[in-house]
Amino acid sequence: MDMALPPRIRKLEESVVNRIAAGEVIQRPASALKELLENSLDAGATVVSVIVKDGGLKLIQITDNGHGIRYEDLPILCERHTTSKITAFEDLQKVSTLGFRGEALASMTFVAHLTVTTMTEGQTHGYRASYKDGVMEGDPRPCAAVKGTQIMVENLFYNVTARRKSFKNPSDEYARVVDVISKYSIQNPKVGFSCKKFGDARADVQTPGNTSSLEAIRAVYGPGTSRELIEIKTSKNDSSDFFEMNGYISSANYSAKRTTMILFINDRLVDCAPLKRAIEVVYAAVLPKASKPYIYMSIRLPPEHVDVNVHPTKKEVSFLNQESLIEAIQTAVEQELLQSNKSRTFYAQT
Ligand code: ADP
Ligand code: MG
Repeated sequence: MDMALPPRIRKLEESVVNRIAAGEVIQRPASALKELLENSLDAGATVVSVIVKDGGLKLIQITDNGHGIRYEDLPILCERHTTSKITAFEDLQKVSTLGFRGEALASMTFVAHLTVTTMTEGQTHGYRASYKDGVMEGDPRPCAAVKGTQIMVENLFYNVTARRKSFKNPSDEYARVVDVISKYSIQNPKVGFSCKKFGDARADVQTPGNTSSLEAIRAVYGPGTSRELIEIKTSKNDSSDFFEMNGYISSANYSAKRTTMILFINDRLVDCAPLKRAIEVVYAAVLPKASKPYIYMSIRLPPEHVDVNVHPTKKEVSFLNQESLIEAIQTAVEQELLQSNKSRTFYAQT
């Protein structure tokens, strides 16, 4: 019998490790864009414009008017685990920024080419620097700029053939990019967002900024949707349990093929399948003909009740008292729908 020895265990080269890790954070163009958007918001931008080529595989360019990046920080900007947002593990308990890992930009440089142009307040010119595999290439070059930051991500997954090949349809990827920007624009109505394809004159998403969430919904999802929405609010404040929810939900007049669920918890775009299901159940019972609702909800929880650190993309969050929160929201939705249905019937009869 062949008593072959097991294969040897070896340490992977760092460049391999980094590329594998990068693939977890940056799964597709839309996930790169989400990270870039969050950085612009963290930088206090009020205007964010995005240009995309080939669904983001060729180019994602994002321009903001945020606080910019200091010249001295440019050399380490794209190293792994460099961040201006937290300094100690304990800071995670009360993290108020969307980012905190210092991993997004680094990850992008392991699977794409990154160029940053930035200028801080009160400067007469900006700087441009390019990055690859976490490292700045050469010195930052002075250039004309305005206050803020522009980041170009080019040839995403150029060195990850399998991943690149999995994106057969750039227009699918573009739709995902548009979806992410649309959702953030509703949560951040004070910020003016735009997104267009490279070379197009017309933007596919355009919000005015300095407005309300409802106006942003109108700008992005159209008046046909915004007209049919009911405002919803609920909260809980007892010793063990605190949360606030506000948002908009569709009325009996709204019909769609699929449910639209836009959920932010403490300003982070997240998925919560049990909450979505719980709301759909209420619609099915109260408004069976409008059972594919449009839902936008923004939930605030005490930061110490939310663990944002569960997943590299931060897409899943886990939080305390999930069941009681879902129940409270379910009740609020039910009351709101019954109420609006009653007034509708009443209105129709008079
Ligand atoms: P994180 O957001 O977790 O800190 P990132 O890799 O996304 O990590 O970004 C690293 C750092 O680069 C940020 O902490 C921030 O200081 C800076 N940065 C990135 N994007 C911008 C931007 N658009 N404007 C200003 N600073 C930025
Ligand atoms: Mg970030």
